[in-house]
Amino acid sequence: AALLAAAPAPPPARHFFSDPAEVEALRGNLLAWYDRCKRDLPWRALAVMEPDADRRGYAVWVSEIMLQQTQVATVIDYYNRWMQKWPTLQALAQASLEEVNELWAGLGYYSRGKRLQEAARKVVSELAGRMPRTAEDLQKLLPGVGRYTAGAIASISYGQATGVVDGNVIRVLCRLRCIGADSSSPAVIDQLWDMANVLVDKSRPGDFNQALMELGATVCVPKAPLCGECPVKQHCQAWHRVEKELAFTSQKLFGNPPKVPDVEDCGVGDCPLCPPATEPWDSSLGVTNFPRKAAKKPPRAMRTATCVLERRGCHGAPEYLIVQRPSSGLLAGLWEFPSLPLAQDLQKEREREELADHLQAWMGRPVAAKGLRFIGEVIHIFSHIHQTYVVYSLPLDGDVTLDPALSPSRWVTENEFHASAVSTAMKKV
Ligand code: SF4
Repeated sequence: AALLAAAPAPPPARHFFSDPAEVEALRGNLLAWYDRCKRDLPWRALAVMEPDADRRGYAVWVSEIMLQQTQVATVIDYYNRWMQKWPTLQALAQASLEEVNELWAGLGYYSRGKRLQEAARKVVSELAGRMPRTAEDLQKLLPGVGRYTAGAIASISYGQATGVVDGNVIRVLCRLRCIGADSSSPAVIDQLWDMANVLVDKSRPGDFNQALMELGATVCVPKAPLCGECPVKQHCQAWHRVEKELAFTSQKLFGNPPKVPDVEDCGVGDCPLCPPATEPWDSSLGVTNFPRKAAKKPPRAMRTATCVLERRGCHGAPEYLIVQRPSSGLLAGLWEFPSLPLAQDLQKEREREELADHLQAWMGRPVAAKGLRFIGEVIHIFSHIHQTYVVYSLPLDGDVTLDPALSPSRWVTENEFHASAVSTAMKKV
């Protein structure tokens, strides 16, 4: 018997929802709050009112893609314009990528729009325009639709009782169940999906999922959560822990014999869901001890020289040259001022010479580095890139003949520039 090794103990019950009565109460409290406090959002109205199931699924899908990495307040206007222009999958399938990029300009993460359109084409051509109805099929059949988006569309549009886990849900669940292990690790993410599937209300799954996300977006926010107003605080282990600590401190203050608060982590470093032993609970952080993330990699630094070429247009108004980026990679297919990525440690004068050489290839005639006027630097943070644009300008006399073998290019007025599919970074430039 001494040879039998003990199996690792499962994580303690405090990290799960194992009491059906508690689950029932949590659902009820959360849904009642959602019914009272939910924000009126255009995609929510469509998810309820739209009788056509394919249109309904499409309407929710568009909103979910736009909401990835973008705030609700920014998305609303884009969403309304998108749905007005392409109210159905069929309409979107017929749009050009240029139109999609133009409407998406400013929303960021541009490949989302392109992928959405490619997927719409697939539904129209390969699935006879019929949206898959379950999370499993949505994820399997639609390019760019991952586990979260599939669960959101299936629960909100088609009433499938399936949970969702996004950034807001991760935060709420980690706090509800004191999960302090790295919340981006696959093991923790798997646990959270299991938990979301247990919790989801079987009769109102779409509302429940939206309620959980709404709670994370408006009450259980990252920095200063409004626990006092929270409809599920009675079910929140992080909140109970803070309350117990407060009670303990006040007992001490009033000279009562202090009872040691019953709030320790599960064990010393061997619970896979507790904070690591090296980074224990920090009382000054309260509920924001959760979630924890492993340190992010710092963004990669890049420098790019860019030149605003200016000429007088036919009515004397200034026009600017923009060129199209390649159809894959960062900012695929968007338009920009002629630009050239630079090595990090180049001297200023060398940067200017390299840009002049690059422009020369564009214009088929010599460009003197001295003629390039340095305007300033613009910093723009893409998801993982810290980009510095070194901006020059060059006024041109007469016309230039652009080499048609190079990327597509065109001259635009300032207004046309703003209406084109250009990135936010280029607008800053
Ligand atoms: Fe979040 Fe506070 Fe509510 Fe817990 S009580 S879920 S920490 S807002």
